[in-house]
Amino acid sequence: MFTRMLKLRLLNSVAPAYFFMATAVTFVLHFCFFLPTLFPSPSASLRGSTTLHALVFLFLMFNALGNYAMTIRYPAESTGDTAVPVCSPHCSDKVDAHYLLNGRHFCKLCKKVILKRDHHCFFTGNCIGSKNMRYFIMFCIYTSCTCLYSLVLGVAFLTVEYSLSFENPLTFMTLLPLSIGYFFMGTISGLQLFVVLMLYVWLGIGLVSAGFCCQQVLLVARGQTWCQMQRGQLVENCSPWKSNLGDVFGTRWLLGLILPVQTVEMYSGDSDAAKQD
Ligand SMILES: [Zn+2]
Repeated sequence: MFTRMLKLRLLNSVAPAYFFMATAVTFVLHFCFFLPTLFPSPSASLRGSTTLHALVFLFLMFNALGNYAMTIRYPAESTGDTAVPVCSPHCSDKVDAHYLLNGRHFCKLCKKVILKRDHHCFFTGNCIGSKNMRYFIMFCIYTSCTCLYSLVLGVAFLTVEYSLSFENPLTFMTLLPLSIGYFFMGTISGLQLFVVLMLYVWLGIGLVSAGFCCQQVLLVARGQTWCQMQRGQLVENCSPWKSNLGDVFGTRWLLGLILPVQTVEMYSGDSDAAKQD
């Protein structure tokens, strides 16, 4: 039990570091390699394309990082209790959390009693609940878009710079092992191998984020949390999916889709809300 907890704590600090490192690497690759290589000529039309691609990339990145920050800034609702109160009789003493009475959870990583807890997100190092679910979902969407966009530009870069062909759909299956082999034989450069590696990182993160986002949206629409799902607990939630989504995404949800801003009205009497006001 102790070692598993240690592993989770380690993951809780390694995952954000990994996220920031991947972000920095993506940034550098875009602006130092992809854009200068794909649009090298100083002609006006290409300058326009460079600006457009840079703007799209910055917009996606800004929303991903903005929603990441919002997830941390508006954490899941907590009662402020930092000790484990009475566990529910059904508490299986899971590795990461205790089930408490009245559907609350004690997160062992956040060391807090969390209301309406969905899960603990290792990348943000925070628990996700109804209050920060919207930012978390938008974070997943924009991370996925940034990764898939980087994947496309990465493929274009490899095609232009190294004349690699991606016409065969099986290229992706053999690209990594072949690139590693060629690198050790001295046929390809370190940069080429690194970009190939990043293609897999972007594809992986992009697909996982997209899948995670779909799952969370479905859960939110059903008025359920991941914690309840894991316990096989079906909520008697009779509210229609529209109002369930509205609760999480707020009234200004349309604005929230394009900018990382607060769209949910804060609950009255909430201590955090009082602080923000
Ligand atoms: Zn937590």
